[in-house]
Amino acid sequence: VIGYFNGRWIDPAEACVPLDERGHQFGDGVYEVIRAYGGRPFLLDWHVERLFQSMEALRIRPPFDPGACKDLIHALIERSGESEAAIYLQVTRGSAVRNHLFPEPSVEANVSATVRPVKSGATEAKSGRLLLVPDERWLNPWIKSLNLLPNIMAKQTAHDAGADEALLVRDGCMIEAASSNVWFVVNGELVTAPADRYILAGITRRFVLEMARDLGIPVREEKLPRERLSEVDAIFLTGTLTEVYPIATVVEHPDIPCASIPAERVPARSVGPEQVREVWT
Ligand code: PLP
Repeated sequence: VIGYFNGRWIDPAEACVPLDERGHQFGDGVYEVIRAYGGRPFLLDWHVERLFQSMEALRIRPPFDPGACKDLIHALIERSGESEAAIYLQVTRGSAVRNHLFPEPSVEANVSATVRPVKSGATEAKSGRLLLVPDERWLNPWIKSLNLLPNIMAKQTAHDAGADEALLVRDGCMIEAASSNVWFVVNGELVTAPADRYILAGITRRFVLEMARDLGIPVREEKLPRERLSEVDAIFLTGTLTEVYPIATVVEHPDIPCASIPAERVPARSVGPEQVREVWT
């Protein structure tokens, strides 16, 4: 396991980020998670492209150009000595006295990273369980920002209910999971939500889309209403570390309505596995 902060190799547990740091205080930054297979970063160009899109969206001045960013990722992998690894790369707006406004004059972005070994084949053939929960994120989940509190709360709620992932429902449709994209097989077609502003356009999603096109498997980029779960023949998730993950069951909790949340029904959030009911299997 190795860590990196602004050009220094560090122990990831070492204290090194200033207290007045915008990623630390505001979540004012962006990140990527990249998987290395056999010591080589998978789909690196797409990850770097998305990182630059996220920085541009949040008006963070890039601390490197795409080439130098790729060089850094290669250097991180090499330094770690790992061949099966997860590389976490984070860029924040920088260090400045706490103030919501962007620092004036502007400061250099902070770059940090960790590399951790990943067990190969970790996702092999265990079928998962999803809990339907309302999508409480902001209106820009397409930006891979550090602000993951709604994702964290949704995933923990799912975990407490005995599920592996939260299936997020916005405007009545099952659009994404808390840390992965979701795919449905309906009438012999693959269905996944379009990469509009409401989901993160996953790199693995993009890869699976290309593979499906190459293989002649019909794909619909459409939002699937929750009511159409009964027509679904199979479900899987995709993500950099999730890879392709089959789902066996979808459950819901009576106190967590998934299509809309009337104020009087905002749940107490004590959710146990015994309280959920199966809605798809
Ligand atoms: N959706 C969300 C909310 C995520 O956090 C992630 C990955 O962490 C994904 C989808 C999958 O994206 P990718 O395939 O780029 O890892």
